[in-house]
Formats: sequence, structure tokens, C-alpha cells
Amino acid sequence: MPPARVIRLEPDADASAVERALRALGLWARPLKAEGVTRAFLVEPCSRELSAEEIERVQGVAAVLAAPSPHPRVDAHPSRVDVGGIAIGRGLPPVVVAGPCSVESREQIHVAAEALAALGVQALRGGAFKPRTSPYTFRGRGREALVWLREAADAYGLLVVTEAVSEEDVSAVAEVADLVQVGSRSMHHLPLLRRVGRAARPVLLKRGLSATLEEWLLAAEACLDAGAPGVVLCERGVRGFDPSTRNLLDLGAVALLAEVRGLPVMVDPSHAAGRRDLIAPLCRAALAAGAAGLLVEVHPDPGEARSDGPQALLPRELEAILEGIR
Ligand code: PEP
Ligand code: MN
Repeated sequence: MPPARVIRLEPDADASAVERALRALGLWARPLKAEGVTRAFLVEPCSRELSAEEIERVQGVAAVLAAPSPHPRVDAHPSRVDVGGIAIGRGLPPVVVAGPCSVESREQIHVAAEALAALGVQALRGGAFKPRTSPYTFRGRGREALVWLREAADAYGLLVVTEAVSEEDVSAVAEVADLVQVGSRSMHHLPLLRRVGRAARPVLLKRGLSATLEEWLLAAEACLDAGAPGVVLCERGVRGFDPSTRNLLDLGAVALLAEVRGLPVMVDPSHAAGRRDLIAPLCRAALAAGAAGLLVEVHPDPGEARSDGPQALLPRELEAILEGIR
């Protein structure tokens, strides 16, 4: 991704004329003021690529400089991440991660894995440690569930995606996970991000419930800086104002991060919508917006699910969605 740029003005430049000229070039510039006077503009990277020489031709512009970025490792991140031998990223066939919200029993996850492998899903998901909003709801079966999850995935040749909720469980999670999930509620938890990064596994970083893109990218930077070999961002809906859906799926963010910044981004329509009847259209929309993959909750018996039943699909419902996509 190109860096943000600082456009420094000549001392006697007409700042508003420069701003108009930059707009005419398709650049969205933010004034940087000193003592109330605009001395420079900051231009975020955008899909319109212009050389420094072209910008310097604008009357009143003294110099075009690369702005220091707060997340240089994210800026240098490749558009693809290798996860257990499968590449996730722009321009590649979409990768599908599916499975129940929680790993509830050995049998449940085996039944799910068998059905999902038959659909051509690449990775099995399921939480052994569940981050819940209420302290009184099911918090996962813990370490035994990690064992069941890995066994089930191995039995059907699937990769494993599962979440680390606390620092003390990261090494156990990283031992079984091909892609370590950091959940929405943990995105701001810097010590966990750094601990997950040190585990040296690729990270699936969900967006915080109301995180800005910069906050999300800084969380990715923390994982990369601590040693993560790659980060896949996962948009899962942000807090909206309308309770008709559980969250508000921000596909503008997906397009910006995937298409403009060239980062690997997945979409989780399940936690975004919170209801199974919206998963199919949101999967199609996510891929149209540039998503490199989908994370979908699927349960062999959603009515019996111990968490997130209303949004879980049956395997045959996912099958219909994947047929439509393919
Ligand atoms: C999950 O993937 O089951 C989960 C808890 O997701 P999120 O962190 O997006 O709420
Ligand atoms: Mn869930």
C-alpha cells in the first residue's frame, strides 16, 4: 500500500487554491495547521495513484513527502496470507471457514466437520474458549474442546480456526489452530494481541464492536510487531443504531481495506446479522465488496446450540449458499 503523504506548501501559497487543485486531481486532502494557518495537507492513500511530480506541479506546493505511518508493518503486509498451506487473499478463490459458535462435544464437532468437509469448506471453526457478553452464559468447554476440534478437523482434512480469549491459553490454542482468532471483544486488548503475535501463527483479527479502521489496523500492527507471520482482518459488523440486525455489516470498510489497501479481509456475516435468513445475501455482498473469504456459523442442530443458535445455518443451507457463489 502506498504511504500517506504530506504536501508541504510554499510560505506564500494560497491554501484554499491548492486544496481545490488537489481535489480536482482526485485527492482528498486534510489541512495541517500551525498557529491557525494551513502549512501543509495530509493525503491518505487512495485508489487514485499520482506521482509526487504530478502533485508538485500544483502552484503553491513546495514538496511532497511520505508521512510516517503508525502501522508500517500493516502497510508492508502482503495481500495474501498462507494458512496451513492455503492462501487467503485478494484474487484467490474465497476461503470458507465454517463451524459452530462453540465446540460443545466431541460428537457435535465431528458431525459438523464431516458435513462441512463434504461441502468443500477449507477450515473448521469452533470456540473452545468463548468470549461472552454475559458472565452467566456458556463460556466454552476449554482445553478438552481444543482436542476434539483438532481431531475432528484432522479426520476430514480441514484447517482449524479457534479463538484465544486470555493470555494464559494462547499457547494451547496456537498448538491446535492453523489460524488463531482474536475476537471482537479482545481487539483492543494489547497484551493479548502481543501474546498471540508471539505464538507465531497467522491471526484472524476480528474488528472491535465500535473500532475505527485505524484502531483495527493498529491492533493488527501489534500482532505483526510481536511476531505474527500474517494477519487476516475479519469484518463482523459494528454496533449500529437499529436492533433489527445484531450488528451493522460495514462493507465499505471491507472495500477500503481489501480493494484500496490490498489487505486480506474476511467477512463474518453470522455475527453481523445475528439471524440465519440474512447470511446468503450478505455472503454474496461480502465477496462483491472484495472479501477474500467467509466465516460462517454452521451447527448440525442449531436449535440445540449452546451459543448463537439463531444465526447458525444447517450444513445444507451453507451448501446452497456455496453453490450460488460458485
Ligand atoms: C465468534 O466468532 O464466535 C465470536 C465470538 O465472534 P465475535 O468476536 O466477532 O463476536
Ligand atoms: Mn458465535
